[in-house]
Amino acid sequence: MKHFADVARVPGDPILGLMDAFRADPNPARLDLGVGVYKDASGLTPIPRAVKLAEQRLIETEQTKSYIGGHGDPAFARHLLELVLGAGSALLHDDLAGATQTPGGTGALRLAGDFIARNLPGRGIWLSDPTWPIHETLFATCGLKVGHYPYVGADNRLDVDAMLAALEQVPVGDAVLLHACCHNPTGFNLSPRNWKRVLEVVKARELLPLLDFAYQGFGDGLDEDAWAVRLFAAELPELLVTSSCSKNFGLYRERTGALIVRAETADKLADVRSQLALLARNLWSTPPSHGAAVVAGILGDAELKALWADEVEAMRQRVTSLRSGLVEALRPHGLAERFAHIATQRGMFSYTGLNPTQVQRLREEFSIYMVSSGRANVAGMAEERLAYLAEAIARVCD
Ligand code: PMP
Repeated sequence: MKHFADVARVPGDPILGLMDAFRADPNPARLDLGVGVYKDASGLTPIPRAVKLAEQRLIETEQTKSYIGGHGDPAFARHLLELVLGAGSALLHDDLAGATQTPGGTGALRLAGDFIARNLPGRGIWLSDPTWPIHETLFATCGLKVGHYPYVGADNRLDVDAMLAALEQVPVGDAVLLHACCHNPTGFNLSPRNWKRVLEVVKARELLPLLDFAYQGFGDGLDEDAWAVRLFAAELPELLVTSSCSKNFGLYRERTGALIVRAETADKLADVRSQLALLARNLWSTPPSHGAAVVAGILGDAELKALWADEVEAMRQRVTSLRSGLVEALRPHGLAERFAHIATQRGMFSYTGLNPTQVQRLREEFSIYMVSSGRANVAGMAEERLAYLAEAIARVCD
């Protein structure tokens, strides 16, 4: 018997395929706006200096490589909770929120999905249309029924009214995934007023929000980006938040993140956490240690924390200035108005509004690579290449 005879080949991740095509492109003018990692002006995804320093310290001080517990490093959890919920958060003082360390934000999402599937049977989960593609497959893999609410209209504008109208129809008690800031793939964020409108619907329908917080610090600032998370945590007795340290600490491959739970009582929090530990045991047993130890080392040291905060701010400012720079570069082509949204979107990604044919032409005629939905990674741009990019966009928009 050939056990693998009926195993079919599935296509690889389209974004990774795009990366391969980019690498194989001999055109020296090529530009990679596809892959979802931060890049500096030289096209590198840097290791922050604060991370390097914390790693050096860790090498000298780490005593053992024995397993860490199911919830991970308690120091990491404490510091991350303060970073996400705010240092003076009453929830932390009252033991109403806890963090379970996970392999990256993806691990946190998987743990949240398994928790909902196993412990809240019958609940579906609702995702924005569009959303990060892994949300779709990940929650389906957990066995959850996945539904969608509109987010961006055909005119490439945020459509909050349509979003709210759809959420009002969601079955009472279902889970709803919201991007806490820097929406991936669109870059369109909810305003504070619109967050409050969403909160009202969440309350009215008794929905369980799952806030995906993968880009803290990349939108408007470390605290500013946490505004919606903190609002929901203060206003709702129950909440799930997935936090990723991949982007803001540059720890992508170290797989560092956490699932944060806010519960109504300390006792209920302990119940939920016991279930999470059980689920995690069957997923990855215990989480990887290195990245979390680095984060704890940075956030637990005033000097390293200040250095790191400056480095995150520099990444944020670079992305923000590339956004406005591109709009300015499009101005001589008469396209500044049409693409003005690129400057007001937040985070690394932009739904440019370019259609798949235009994206294909950019690639074939100009060696500019972006996802066929028209999503561009703004961090992939370079100040001195904006004129080339604008010229190319103008040509395919003719
Ligand atoms: N959520 C969103 C919206 C993301 O874009 C990402 C990373 N691309 C993640 C979660 C997960 O990040 P990681 O697992 O690398 O921490």
